Amino acid sequence: MTGKVYLVGAGPGDPELLTLKAARILASAGVVLYDALVSKEVLAMISRDAQSIDVGKRAGTKLLTQEEINSLLISYAKNNNVVVRLKGGDPLLFGRAGEEIDALRGARVDFEIVPGITAAIGAAAGAKISLTDRRVASQVLFTTFSRGETGNWLNWAAVTPETTIAIYMPGTHYGEVADRLVENGLSPETPCVVVSQATRAQQEVRWTNIAALGEAQLPAPSILLVGRVATQSMAEWGAGINPELLKRAKANEAGLNAGKKN
Ligand code: SAH
Repeated sequence: MTGKVYLVGAGPGDPELLTLKAARILASAGVVLYDALVSKEVLAMISRDAQSIDVGKRAGTKLLTQEEINSLLISYAKNNNVVVRLKGGDPLLFGRAGEEIDALRGARVDFEIVPGITAAIGAAAGAKISLTDRRVASQVLFTTFSRGETGNWLNWAAVTPETTIAIYMPGTHYGEVADRLVENGLSPETPCVVVSQATRAQQEVRWTNIAALGEAQLPAPSILLVGRVATQSMAEWGAGINPELLKRAKANEAGLNAGKKN
């Protein structure tokens, strides 16, 4: 028998934010490999007959390597109809799903993706702000302070005064993130909101701006939303505009438009 592997999004924490499909699959799973970020309420929805395996990472110590997780998914699929790889938020965002997909394809194991609500969207709901409020924003960037394999963590050419930046895994030193944002042209007055444990009972929302970001200390997991939308006060909407950045954004836009004509 060869079963199917489901890469399932557990959402940001509140079990009611799980999709119906995720809940159905969890209830019929034979094996579930789950991450540290999955809430206990969601874990409680796993079938009692299932074997649940914690493959999460805590304080930088990995319980299992990515290669070991890939091999486990493939070997469990040989003896189980339903194998679940359960990840916090959406399974395809910042969760190494690409490597798992490659491994499953390579081993010719059937698999399916079940999307979940990602942390940035859960946090926006918690803070009650629209990430794309058309009065001050035109795009959203999902990014991280951890470096990618190429050494870069953000493509600054994509940042305009109308960009909302959602920073995953900001670490505990928001001051470092703040320095990086200012170095790259964002105004220190740009509004920010840190949302800790979004959608959970312990959720905390801290309104601040880049200049004061270093003082914010909130329990993990937390996500940082930066941009003109990240405020409750319309009076702050102008605060995020740095004339330099605006000039750069306009030049960038002109370049893009010129490119379109060719
Ligand atoms: N796949 C996940 C992201 C994994 S990276 C998703 O789509 O949400 C892990 C980071 O996600 C954490 O460091 C934190 O920045 C963010 N995160 C996950 N759950 C969160 C929550 N409930 N509240 C705030 N941030 C969260």
